[in-house]
Amino acid sequence: MSLSSNSCPALVLNADYQPLSYFPLSTWSWKDALKAVFLERVNVVSEYDQLVRSPSVELKLPSVVSLKDYVPLPDNVAFTRFNVFLRDKFTCQYCVKSFKVEHLTFDHVIPRSLGGKTTWDNVVTSCRRCNTFKGNKLVNKTNLKLNKQPYIPNNYELKEIGKLFPPNFLHKSWNDFLYWDSELEP
Ligand SMILES: [Zn+2]
Repeated sequence: MSLSSNSCPALVLNADYQPLSYFPLSTWSWKDALKAVFLERVNVVSEYDQLVRSPSVELKLPSVVSLKDYVPLPDNVAFTRFNVFLRDKFTCQYCVKSFKVEHLTFDHVIPRSLGGKTTWDNVVTSCRRCNTFKGNKLVNKTNLKLNKQPYIPNNYELKEIGKLFPPNFLHKSWNDFLYWDSELEP
């Protein structure tokens, strides 16, 4: 059988039927999903029409699985570059334009050279151009304007923001678990 490893991914839900994450959306390759089914770690919630056959069994690939054991979300959001980008909706906080992750960097609102710390409330998403332009200056010493004062987001908030960025691939069986008002036609 020739099924590429990145076709037919399975949406992974927590035991409460909420996706583990929205952005990036929590998915597994069909191989990992099947493995989890055989290890009885997940319930199959929905299936693709795609069949896989082994000498002894024939079964449909899972399109949605839910974990049998609930994975609690941590109280504190990890302070990572990615989560800073997500908090700021992939938008430069100076020119307020959207960029792809690879074109974004981060900026210390109070520069490190002036004692600014690398913390949630002093770091913002920035495009490379604004970042270079601002350099080691305070915002009010430049023509730039800070869009929004940085802050510590919570998990709920980041999940909600993640919902705003649907992935490229959405199987119709996923919609019920992702977006209340999504289009149900494939
Ligand atoms: Zn910018």
